[in-house]
Parts: sequence; structure tokens; C-alpha cells
Amino acid sequence: MRVLYWIDRRTISFQLLAALLLTAMLAEILFGLIAALALFWLYTLARNAALQKKIHSEQAIASVTFESRDGVVITDAEQNILKVNRAFTEITGYTSADVAGKTPAILKSTRHDESFYRQMWETIKGKKSWHGEIWNKRKNGEIYPEQLTITPIFGAGGQLVNYVGIFSDITRRKISEAEIHDLAFYDTLTHLPNRRLLQDRLSHALTAGARNNKEGALLFIDLDNFKTLNDTLGHRMGDLLLQQVALRLTSCVREGDTVARLGGDEFVVMLENLSGQAGEAAAQTEAIGDKILASLGKPYQLDMHEYQSTPSIGITLFGNHERGMEDLLKQADIAMYQAKKSGRNTLQFFNPQMQETITARAKLEGELRIAIEAQQFQLHYQMQMDSLRRIQGAEALLRWIHPQRGLVSPAQFIPLAEETGLILKIGFWVLETACTQLKAWQQNANTRNLTLAVNVSAKQFRQTDFVSQVHAAVLRHAIDPKLLKLELTESLLLENIEETITTMNALKKIGVLFSLDDFGTGYSSLQYLKRLPLDQLKIDQSFVQDLATDNSDKAIVGTIIAMAHGLDLDVIAEGVETEEQRLTLLNKGCIHYQGYLFGKPVPIEQFESLMNPGQTRRQAAVACPNVCHAA
Ligand code: C2E
Ligand code: MG
Ligand code: MG
Repeated sequence: MRVLYWIDRRTISFQLLAALLLTAMLAEILFGLIAALALFWLYTLARNAALQKKIHSEQAIASVTFESRDGVVITDAEQNILKVNRAFTEITGYTSADVAGKTPAILKSTRHDESFYRQMWETIKGKKSWHGEIWNKRKNGEIYPEQLTITPIFGAGGQLVNYVGIFSDITRRKISEAEIHDLAFYDTLTHLPNRRLLQDRLSHALTAGARNNKEGALLFIDLDNFKTLNDTLGHRMGDLLLQQVALRLTSCVREGDTVARLGGDEFVVMLENLSGQAGEAAAQTEAIGDKILASLGKPYQLDMHEYQSTPSIGITLFGNHERGMEDLLKQADIAMYQAKKSGRNTLQFFNPQMQETITARAKLEGELRIAIEAQQFQLHYQMQMDSLRRIQGAEALLRWIHPQRGLVSPAQFIPLAEETGLILKIGFWVLETACTQLKAWQQNANTRNLTLAVNVSAKQFRQTDFVSQVHAAVLRHAIDPKLLKLELTESLLLENIEETITTMNALKKIGVLFSLDDFGTGYSSLQYLKRLPLDQLKIDQSFVQDLATDNSDKAIVGTIIAMAHGLDLDVIAEGVETEEQRLTLLNKGCIHYQGYLFGKPVPIEQFESLMNPGQTRRQAAVACPNVCHAA
């Protein structure tokens, strides 16, 4: 029974257990379901929130994008404006109310022709975006440049629904682009085309001229004595003159012609479409050249100063397009130099002989470079006399004994040496040789008091160490510095008057003398002369030559002598060839002379033989019939 009961109880417990288990399982399933539902609900909530956030942020992005700095316009498929942003209004001046329902054609300017718009729409109709620069018109009528993109928008079915135009105002960019262009192609002072733009135009002109069988011409224009203006009245006045010259040149030519400034006082005028006949074209060019000469020769008002200037013009025609641009410019430049040489204020056409001269010059330059090392230079000495026909000293004049050409005159090679800078080396050699000679003279009682004049060129004088060069030479050769006379020219002195005075004073401290060479040919003013530590004025030979026949030369010479005395300066006349000239000079108070009347420049041996009549009296008589030597 107990067993049965036990079994029964066991049976009952088992049932209970099963029921409990079942309940637990059901509860678990229910709980799981509830949990799953809760999770799903939470998930949905989160997902919606994320979606909402995404939509929000996308809207925010869209509105930020729409309200960007670029103008945006959205139209329907018929181009009626649906929406514009704030930047659109800022750029165009139209509010959204102004443009609602209208088409973007209200922005159209007259800067583009129909074909421009046709091409634009062809691109867009081809379902592509159009991107480019366009000139549009603001509400206030102002025309401005835009960078524009037009994109067609298609619906799900592929049908066109909208156009979106996005644009930015590029006025500032255009201005700076123009400024950069101006800087690259225009001269900032005169606003004329610069060398680069001239070359560009010349290249086009050469092609066009060849095609149309028309001649063209280049006129190379250089202002005479421009440097003197800069040095005396200052660079500001120089700039004013250049600006006025630019205006005058522009008014002398036709609209299609080019006036360019190459730099400094150099201008180029390019004429196009001249006659196809070279002779006629030359005549047309000459007429314009004359017009330029007349126009630039009229007085200028530079602030308070009335100023007179003249140009020298070199011309070359370029119907024959085989020559390159650089060659043409060079030819016009060569012709301009020729114009300068033939007295300035004139025009010269380029001709092949000029080219030959240039080639010869280039050859001469090469030879000049080796002349010092090859010991081809010599100093010749020309005596300087007083009124009692006593030798006071000499002027050292450079000679180039060329192995093939023989004796080359300094007039031929000194300007070239100056241009190429070779004068520095040459001038140094001259100074050294002159000091050696002075030292030699100092050893002899007969020659101990002779002065020796040495010509100094502008470049040489302007060297920063010129004073120390002279000082070192004086010390090295142990010469009496007051026997060394430096000959300077007026143009050299005026180049930079203040600097000149400083250098001259420093040289004066060493003890050397100064003579102002070729006096009367330059533009010295009394004011400057007074300030220069000069010892002597040397009357230019051009005044001496016609002294006996030309009354005005007589008057000039008289004035120079009186002026020299007034300034307490010694005066010497160069180029004295006749007794008549010497007497006229003497009557006017000039007691020092140099010229063929007394002796030509001769090598030192010959010069010394004149100094020593006992030895070579016959030689001396030939070279210089009337010489006495200093006591
Ligand atoms: P300059 O210094 O005015 O020299 C005077 C020139 O006149 C010399 O010409 C001389 O030979 C010439 N002459 C002298 N007396 C007479 C005369 O009675 N009648 C004529 N018709 N001429 C006379 P040169 O020797 O041909 O020299 C020419 C120029 O070359 C010089 O003119 C000077 O400016 C320059 N030069 C000569 N030697 C040197 C030098 O060593 N250095 C520099 N920088 N220039 C020099
Ligand atoms: Mg001289
Ligand atoms: Mg002279």
C-alpha cells in the first residue's frame, strides 16, 4: 500500500512536474515572443529615427547646397523658373518673385551671338551638362561674366523634368586675369604693348603680309639725349616725357598699327598693310616717320619745365618675310644707330651696307679683345705748348697697331671699346703706360716738369674703384701727381653730376689735375662748372678750325677764354693748325695750344727726339718746325 501510495504520489508528482514544465515552456515561448516583438518594435523605432535623421540631414545638405555661394536656378522642362537661391539674387539682382515663371533668358546679354546659344542648347539636348563662361546681364543692366553649368534632370521614366543652372560671378577673376595679361604684355608706364606683344603682333603681321602681298615696316625710335634729361631733371620728369611721347606716337599712326615700348627710351612703331610695292611702301613709311619727327620735336610741358626733345628713327621694311623677327628688330636698331650717327633728329632706312658695317664691327670687337695681350697698343704723344713755344707737356693718344689693318684710329675703336666694356682694361693699360712715362721723364732734368694728359672714358671714370686705381698707380710709379692730367668730357661730367663731383674731389686729394676736353660741344652750365674741381678747359678743335673765317666761332672762343679766366681756370686750344689760329687765340688771351702746328701725335722715341734737338735736330725739324723745349 505504501508502495502503491508511493507510486501514486510519484505519478502525481510526475504529472505536476510535466504541467509545470509545460507551463514554463509556454511562458518562455511567450516571453521570447514578447521579447522579439519588443526588439522588433525597438528596431523599427531606431530605424525610423535613423531614416528621419538621414532625411533631415539630406534636407539640411540640400538646403545648404542650395544656399551656397553659387547662384542656383531650377526650371521645369519648359525652362520656366521654379526656384532660385539667395546667391542668384545677390549676383543677378533679381528676387525669386521677379523671376518666378519667367525663363533664364531675362539674364541674356548681347555679348554672344545666336550660334553660341545654339551650340549650348545642342549640348544640353544631347542629355549632357553644358559648362562654360558666359556674359549675362544683371537687373541693373550691368553685363558681367559667369562660370555656368546647366544640367538637365530626367525622371524615372527617362523624361526631362528640370534644368538646373549653377553659376558663379567671375568678374574679379576676369579683372585679375586682365591685370596679369596687362603685366605680361603691356608696359606699365605708358600702357603701350611691350616687346613680347610686339613680337607676337610682328609674327602675325609677317604671315598676313606674305598672304596679302603687302609690305609692313618697323620704325625703331630712340629719344636723343634722354639720359641727360633723367640725370639733370630726375627720373620723374623722364617718366613724364615717356608718357607724352607714347601719346604722340599713338596719334601719328592708324588704328591697326602698333606702337610699342621696348624699355628705356626705345619705342617701336609697326606699320601694316602698306603698299605691295617696296618703293611706295618706303614712301608711305617715310611720311609717317616725318610726321613722328615733327610731332616728337614739339616742346613738352613736364610739370614746371618746358622741354624740347628729338628722336632718331631707324626703319626697315618687312615685305620679305624670310627674315626672322629678331633680325628685323636688329635691322631697325642698326638703322636707328645710323640716324644717331648722322646727327640725330632724323630717320634712316636700313640698307645692306649697314649690315656689313655691323658684321665688320663684330669682327673688330673680337680682335680688340685680344689686342692688349697681343701688345698691339701704343701711346702716341702730342705736345702742348705755351705762347713762347715752350713744351709744357703732352697728351697721350692711344694707337692700335693692328697686325693686318695697320694703324687703327681711336675714333674707330674707342666707342666700340666703351660699348663692350673693353675700355676698362684698355684704360688701365693707358694709365699704367702714362705713369711709367711720367716716371721716366721725372728722371731727366729736361723733361721733369712735363705734364702728361690722359683721356679717361665715362665707363672708366664710373668704376667704383677708379680713385684707388689712380692712387695705386701714382704710388706704384712714385710720380708727382700734379703732372698727371686727367681729360674728362662734358657728357661724362653731366651723367651724374653729384657722383662726378665726389669722385673728382677724391681724385683731387691725390693731387692729379683735371682738364675738360672738347669744351663747347656739350651742355655744361656755368652752375655746374663752378662746382667742379677743374684746372683747365680745352677748347674743342671744331671752334679752332674756322677761327680765322667764322665770326661766331671767334665769338664762342672769346667767350670760352673769358669764362675760363673768370672761373680762374687755365685754357688750352686743341687742333691748332695755323699761325693765324694761334695768333687769334693769343689775342683773345689763350696761351696754351696743341695741334699740328706744333706737332702730330708721335711715338715716344720721336717725341723725345723733338725734346732733345741736339740729337735728332733734323727729325725734329720735320715733325715740328717751330719747337723750343721748356727751359
Ligand atoms: P681728343 O682727346 O680730343 O684728342 C684730340 C684728337 O685731335 C686726337 O685725335 C688728335 O690726334 C687730334 N688732333 C690733334 N691736333 C690736331 C690738329 O691740329 N688737327 C686735327 N685735325 N686733329 C688734331 P685722335 O688721336 O684720333 O683721338 C681721337 C679721340 O680718341 C681723342 O680725342 C679721345 O677722345 C679718344 N682717345 C684717344 N686716346 C684715348 C685714350 O687713351 N683713352 C680714351 N678713353 N680715349 C682716347
Ligand atoms: Mg683729349
Ligand atoms: Mg679733344
